[in-house]
Order: sequence, then C-alpha cells, then structure tokens
Amino acid sequence: MSVGTDTISEIVSNYELTIACEKCGAQTQKTIGWIRQHRDMKCPQCEAVIVLNTSRITGTIRSVERRLGDLQSQLTERIRKL
Ligand SMILES: [Zn+2]
Repeated sequence: MSVGTDTISEIVSNYELTIACEKCGAQTQKTIGWIRQHRDMKCPQCEAVIVLNTSRITGTIRSVERRLGDLQSQLTERIRKL
C-alpha cells in the first residue's frame, strides 16, 4: 500500500488559500484547483480585479505542494515499516 500521487494532487487542489484584496483588504477563501483555472477574479467587496497568478500566490501553492509531497514520502515510508 502507498499513498498515491493522485491523492496528494487532489488534496492540493482542494486546499484553500486566503486571497486578500490589495484595495480594500477583503479576504476570500479559494481552493488551489480553482485558482489554477482562473487568472484573476473580482473582489466580492469592492469589485477590484485581483490578479491570481502573482509570484506570491504561485509561491504559496508550490510550498503547499512541497509540504504535502514530503508528507506523502513520510507516510509511504511509515506504511512500509508496518
Ligand atoms: Zn476589494
């Protein structure tokens, strides 16, 4: 048994990030899967355009992927030892 890569990418897609509007500071929760399918969004509060593919957001997504990837190898290792 192993913890599949599919499972990990599914968890990554469903992971919610907080997107903050630079204009009014309103915060919205969006899943990584949703963010990947959109280049920008409108702030629900002030309707300003929030760009989603900024280096900060893609950096956050990468670090989530990395952390979960590490978790996957740790879990696979643990399961193997059982
Ligand atoms: Zn706003």
